Amino acid sequence: VGAGHAGVEQLILAKPRGFCAGVVMAIGAVEKAAQSETKPLTVYHSIVHNHTVVERLEGQHGVHFVEDLSTLEALPHGSETIVFSAHGVSPQVRQRARELGLSTIDATCPLVTKVHTEAKKYAREGYTILLIGDSARHQEVIGTLGEAPDATLIVGVLGKTGEGLLDPHTVEVPNPDKLVVLTQTTLSVDDTRRTVEILKARFPALLIPPSEDLCYATKNRQDEVKRIAPIVDAFVVLTSTHSSNGMRLLELAQSLCPRSHRLETADDVRALDLRGVRRLGISSAASTPDDLVQALVGYFRALNPALEVTEQGEWENILFREPKKLGPQGEVIR
Ligand code: SF4
Repeated sequence: VGAGHAGVEQLILAKPRGFCAGVVMAIGAVEKAAQSETKPLTVYHSIVHNHTVVERLEGQHGVHFVEDLSTLEALPHGSETIVFSAHGVSPQVRQRARELGLSTIDATCPLVTKVHTEAKKYAREGYTILLIGDSARHQEVIGTLGEAPDATLIVGVLGKTGEGLLDPHTVEVPNPDKLVVLTQTTLSVDDTRRTVEILKARFPALLIPPSEDLCYATKNRQDEVKRIAPIVDAFVVLTSTHSSNGMRLLELAQSLCPRSHRLETADDVRALDLRGVRRLGISSAASTPDDLVQALVGYFRALNPALEVTEQGEWENILFREPKKLGPQGEVIR
């Protein structure tokens, strides 16, 4: 038992937390396909950005994950079907899958597809696209960029720098009068707004599409962390490090509650020093299974049978339709 753990009297669980509609749809698509395919199933990129989810699919369903279609002559283990992850893929990857004669199941979240559609439309109309992201290497950014590579500049969301990211304060554009801003779906709401303000001040004609690209799940999870983190002694976010929305929750919690920590799984809690912590806030990324949160609750309850567990906020009520399986020529198979 870690220091101070038995002294935790109350857990406040954020609602919503955990799986969003895109993740539910994507994992469901893989599980269903893995059961109905006669050959092993391949998924392009981690279906969602959570290690536990990927390990469970590999272990229970024998699913194989690949990261690079361009170098493949055929899929491993004789797979004939490939699933595209919730983060979306570039047209180049779709093309490669066709060349390899693969059937495809596209588990791209519809809210990511919406951004792809915008990128294509604005590029066709001659706009330069400023695509705000937190990493040029994030799968979603790579996919959206692929829709209009010649028309897109990737701008780092406020505070994020790194390879391939341009600074919103200094980015130069070919024609400031024909400029539109799009964003990754899972960024910090506040930092995205500030980044757009910086760009708008520099380029007054900047077009801001009527509906935002940040998704409802990102916004709702951040809103609840904003309410809970200031009123607890410590806060934990269950997330993998490569989950963009999860890491934004962690940063937000840390800005409001200095004793905020990331946990990959409930077991990691044992390393935390919780001396003096009576109220502990908990949230989790859109790709974190809720049994990890429940395992954390079970851990604290075992230490303190009088533990009070409260949930704060509202669940979402959104579902996305499951994707169809398409043959190499785009024909509907299932
Ligand atoms: Fe879709 Fe948002 Fe979930 Fe990503 S976090 S899969 S964009 S709903």
